[in-house]
Parts: sequence; C-alpha cells; structure tokens
Amino acid sequence: MPGTVLITGCNRGIGLEMTRQFAADGWRVFATCRDPAQAGGLHALEGEYPQLEVHQLDVTDYDQMAQLAEKLGDQPLDILVSNAGYYGPKGTLFGRVDREEWRKVLEANTIAPYMLAETFCDNVAASERKVIAVLSSKVGSIADNSSGGGYIYRSSKTAVNQVVKSLSVDLRERGISVIALHPGWVKTDMGGPNALISAEESATGLRGVMLGAGMDLSGHFMNYDGSEIPW
Ligand code: NDP
Repeated sequence: MPGTVLITGCNRGIGLEMTRQFAADGWRVFATCRDPAQAGGLHALEGEYPQLEVHQLDVTDYDQMAQLAEKLGDQPLDILVSNAGYYGPKGTLFGRVDREEWRKVLEANTIAPYMLAETFCDNVAASERKVIAVLSSKVGSIADNSSGGGYIYRSSKTAVNQVVKSLSVDLRERGISVIALHPGWVKTDMGGPNALISAEESATGLRGVMLGAGMDLSGHFMNYDGSEIPW
C-alpha cells in the first residue's frame, strides 16, 4: 500500500476530492467529517474502496479528537491533512465585524489545525513520509494583502500560517515536514461558482506538493501548482 493519510472535512469540497484521489491511488484513508450520517458522497467512496474508513470528527471538539486518536492507536500516518475550514460571514468590512463569528472562525481555522497536529504527531512521526499539511489560503498572506477587509477569514489563515511555521521548527528534530498550502480559488461551496479551478485540479496539485514535501519544504507556504507563496 502506498501510504496512509488522515484528512479532515471530507464530506464535500476539496476534502472529498482529495479523499477520492488518495483512495483511487490505493492509499489507506482515514476520512473524517463532523456528520457522517449526512456524508452521502463519502459513503459512496467507502463502498468503492475497502481501505477507506469514515470517522466522525468535528475538528473543534477536542474530546472527539482525542477519542479518534485512541481508536487509531499507534497507526502510522504518512500524511495528516488539516483541510476542514470555515469562512464565516462574507464581506467582513471595516466597521461590520461580528466578534462571535470571528471567534468561531479562529477556532476552526487556527486552533483546530494546531490541536490536530499535537494530537496526531506521534502517528506522523511513526510513518515513512512524515508530512503535516495545513490548508491555508493566499488571503492569509500579509504580503498579498493590498485590498484590505476580510478581517475574520484573513486573520484566521494568517494565524494558522504562523502555527505552521512554529510546528515546522518544533517538529523538525522528529523528521516531520510541516507545510501550509493554498489550494487555488476552487469551485466548492466556499469558493463559489465563479472560482477558477475545479476541486479535481486543486486536489491533484495539492497531492503533488504533499507527496514531494521533504524537510526542504518544511515551514514553507506553497501554492497547489508547486510555486511558493510569500508569507
Ligand atoms: P467547503 O466550504 O466546500 O468545505 C469545508 C469543509 O470543512 C466541509 O467538509 C465542512 O464540513 C468542513 N468543516 C468546517 N468546519 C468544520 C468542523 N468544525 N469540523 C469538521 N469539519 C468542518 O470548503 P473547501 O473545500 O473549498 O475548502 C477546504 C479548505 O481549503 C478550507 O480550509 C478552506 O479555507 C481552504 N481554501 C479554500 C479555497 C477555495 O477557493 N475553495 C481557497 C483558499 C483556501 P460541514 O459540511 O460539516 O460544514
């Protein structure tokens, strides 16, 4: 078997497509989502690929995360993909920011990816490839911000970029490569119908970057096409 991957937010969008592609390539996939009963597309894949297992995980429920870790035991994870994300209210302009929503977005996009890495880093360290990949966004790049606004989502992704950088330093001696990824502007519920690329194209590119992520890429912010994005 080529390897084992755990992915969050697999019931739709980029997570579902990454799940499909890893499974089709023969990977063992722990595909997680917060409401398996509603995840029809994921269960269809489960029927097609016997090495795919669906597990419940709300990434902001840290007790549930610990229970999943217990279930997995010392199962090595070649790639841990923190994909689940929440945009929050659209168009958070200056003077129109919902603080409660901001806290929710930070929980899902910043704190949860850190907790996922902390919870499963022993499984990653026990694997061959040893990669932790976090779906960030180019709008979290400070260098890229010329249009302002988007306080909630932008800040959550900027903050998770810093999480990635610190993890890359802290986990380097265990041989774990930690990368931040921009998936492109992708036609999903989050990206909307006017986005530039399909989930299939994005997932193909993201997987290429993850599969090539040695220690030289650790602590870097990479586009789905393999180019580097300035922090
Ligand atoms: P979607 O909105 O299509 O899907 C989001 C996924 O995250 C869903 O599976 C959703 O599950 C899951 N999710 C949200 N909150 C939680 C939670 N608390 N616990 C578990 N799962 C959760 O987004 P995309 O597929 O487009 O995005 C995937 C990642 O890529 C995100 O991190 C996003 O920020 C990032 N990204 C996307 C871009 C795009 O253009 N699409 C651009 C840049 C970055 P549920 O159905 O239960 O809500």
